[in-house]
Amino acid sequence: MNSITIRSVEAFQVAWSPDAPPGRRSAFVRIEAEDGSVGWGEASPMMGGEHSLGIIRRDLAPALVGQDALDHAVIHDRLLHRGIKLGPEGALTGALAAIDIALWDLQGKALGLPVYKLLGGAWRTEIPFYASIGGNAARTVDEVLATVEARWRKETPAAIKIRWDGGRTHQDIDIPGDLAKARAVRRLVGDDFPLAFDANNQYSVGGAIRVGRALEDLGYIWFEEPVQHYDVRAMGEVAQRLDITVSAGEQTYTLQALADLIAAGVRMVQPDIVKMGGLTGLQQCAALCRAHAVELVPHQTQPVIGHMANLHLVGSLMYQTKPAEYADASGRMDIGFVDPPRPRNGCFHLSDKPGLGIGVNEAELNRHRV
Ligand code: CA
Repeated sequence: MNSITIRSVEAFQVAWSPDAPPGRRSAFVRIEAEDGSVGWGEASPMMGGEHSLGIIRRDLAPALVGQDALDHAVIHDRLLHRGIKLGPEGALTGALAAIDIALWDLQGKALGLPVYKLLGGAWRTEIPFYASIGGNAARTVDEVLATVEARWRKETPAAIKIRWDGGRTHQDIDIPGDLAKARAVRRLVGDDFPLAFDANNQYSVGGAIRVGRALEDLGYIWFEEPVQHYDVRAMGEVAQRLDITVSAGEQTYTLQALADLIAAGVRMVQPDIVKMGGLTGLQQCAALCRAHAVELVPHQTQPVIGHMANLHLVGSLMYQTKPAEYADASGRMDIGFVDPPRPRNGCFHLSDKPGLGIGVNEAELNRHRV
């Protein structure tokens, strides 16, 4: 095989239920090669991903037809710099991420190899995961406990992260209440179970220090996005003043912005494969992190395409210091996929199926295309 010529690129939303508003849809890319093989990619679903899909349909797809999928890295940088004055953050990098993931999937299928082999091999094909449990700002302590206990018992994750998902236009709204929930969850799971606390950017620097000190006493193992993500110096100050590992980076869209976060003092970063760079970008992040002794623990919330791309990437990292993220346990997005990924005994498993190893029932998936 000398090349994998791209024949067509489709970018579309998928509505998982008829009443799902546009902002709750998924954003998929389907890239077909001349030989009929198909690669699948996914963009960040923020606002339904429509901004990224629009860029793909209007600007990127015409430039991809006739190109060689094996040139994924050249394609990535060429298209990034073609559209760079659009930001380049957010919508454009989400579009490029979707395309990149689809090109790797296509390459794996053409070569008959799983993506992790193309990434240089897997250090592990059993990947421990953590349950990422959101929405806790709006819950009472008892509701938080009931929600956490249900997923803890059902999924047997290797760790649990409780997310606040509170308002981002206020700070330090209810620190005593937040800490009461963090304490209650610690009591529920016992002293030794790994817990993480995701503030979703809701504290001031002073508030974050106060919360972080309490989390240290409670034995939490990381404190995620304590302050606004765009206040890089503030994030760095919190990271440097606390002993608990402070993490950030899920809203970081370029390698250079990730370098700035690391320079500010953040020692665990969470770039997201469907928001920046796809597999090609995350490999670059991995090199940057390794050079700076920074933990790379990718953010990832999409249940099938993004999830599998992330697992192949995590499997290929020498260090996996924290479990991989698993956000959506509902199965509501399984429609159209054959054997969607499910954890067993606290782990996800990478197979030797070619590409991302995802089976797609296109007829079924097409019924949910918008
Ligand atoms: Ca987060």
